[in-house]
Amino acid sequence: MAPQQTVGILGGGQLGRMLAHPAALMGIPLLILDSGAATPAKQVSLAPAPHAAHPDGAFTSPDHIRQLARAADVLTVEIEHVDADVLAQVERDGLCAVQPAPATIKLIQDKYLQKRHLQRHGIAVAPFDAVPDQPTAEDWSKLERQFGLPLMVKSRTNAYDGKGNSPLKSLTQEDITQTMQSLGKNKLYVEAWAPFVKEVAVMVVRNVNGDVKSYDAVETIHKDSILRVCFAPLRVSTTGGRGAGGLVDVNKRAKELAERAVATLDGAGIFGVEMFLMADGSLMINEIAPRPHNSGHHTIEACDTSQFENHLRAILSLPLGSTALRVPSAGMLNLIGTSDSMDPINKAVQAAYETPGATVHLYGKTECRKGRKMGHITITGSSDAQVRSRIRPILEAMNDLSA
Ligand code: ATP
Ligand code: MG
Ligand code: MG
Repeated sequence: MAPQQTVGILGGGQLGRMLAHPAALMGIPLLILDSGAATPAKQVSLAPAPHAAHPDGAFTSPDHIRQLARAADVLTVEIEHVDADVLAQVERDGLCAVQPAPATIKLIQDKYLQKRHLQRHGIAVAPFDAVPDQPTAEDWSKLERQFGLPLMVKSRTNAYDGKGNSPLKSLTQEDITQTMQSLGKNKLYVEAWAPFVKEVAVMVVRNVNGDVKSYDAVETIHKDSILRVCFAPLRVSTTGGRGAGGLVDVNKRAKELAERAVATLDGAGIFGVEMFLMADGSLMINEIAPRPHNSGHHTIEACDTSQFENHLRAILSLPLGSTALRVPSAGMLNLIGTSDSMDPINKAVQAAYETPGATVHLYGKTECRKGRKMGHITITGSSDAQVRSRIRPILEAMNDLSA
């Protein structure tokens, strides 16, 4: 058998940590580039011989990326906010392969360019437009006439967990100033508000040989632009209600749309495709992540092959694993800090240990902060009703009944 190829990961957070588990099972050596010796991913993965330790440096540092490339056979990312130009150079210089393609990472980094790309390929997205640098009151009025209110104002780059989104409810000077201040110095664009009935996500995986598989669509529930809860598979009522007749085949259509969108992007790996389901049954893409994604965490317990294992298979030219659900129903609940205290999260974890079908994932982050993802809990069950009843006491324990 050919020797295992070493995978270098840019970023050592929770996604890297969850990649490390299947890598250990499959005997795949990992080198994790991040600052510090004990990031969530490094805590659970030993650097393979002959390297004494994982590289210690910023995943944005060109020198460290080049060093990693010399030591690895394939580079991949657990975060899209990396230096894609350096990755492209690494590939051109023949230092090692990079998956997904650096050009894909670069395109996705800028949400405005990502949206333009999707639109050019005939893929539905919410109406959007660029915001000029230092917009005037007249610029905002023009955008309001174009899209109405509220306007979803977004940072083009460096956005995650809703940090980079600011809904603008009115054009008063106060609201405009608040939005501009909250988004800092980043370049901005706006989207029309999407009055969706549900948010939906599909994980799509493509290997180096071009084989593609997608997971069943899930329902994602966000609060303040950050993912709280996810239910798999997606259920949509097609009886009663205005426009319910259009809500047929949503899973099939969501998978097709996600696969079509990913087909416009180069490179191997797993992609998280976020979508809005509208009242008439139509689907629009919100954004695509070129990496494992929070809306696919349930796949660890609930599917034949997890998104993390399939990502490794994809970038290493291995056959893709089955994406089928192996339980009738599953839910995923993010453990998000509400302050610097872990108390609410510890209470939820305690409740999860007392709940059948619940699996606790804590990411090993030493400091809790408001809005920081500290872990998640997956709940499986024999029916949607059972999953929901199992989630309820856990949500109650952390005093969050948003789902
Ligand atoms: P992620 O953590 O998924 O990378 P992000 O910071 O990139 O998030 P988005 O995915 O753009 O942010 O938006 C986060 C959430 O904000 C969406 O899932 C949705 O709930 C809400 N949202 C985003 N765009 C719109 C819109 N145009 N209309 C209504 N709600 C929106
Ligand atoms: Mg995003
Ligand atoms: Mg998103």
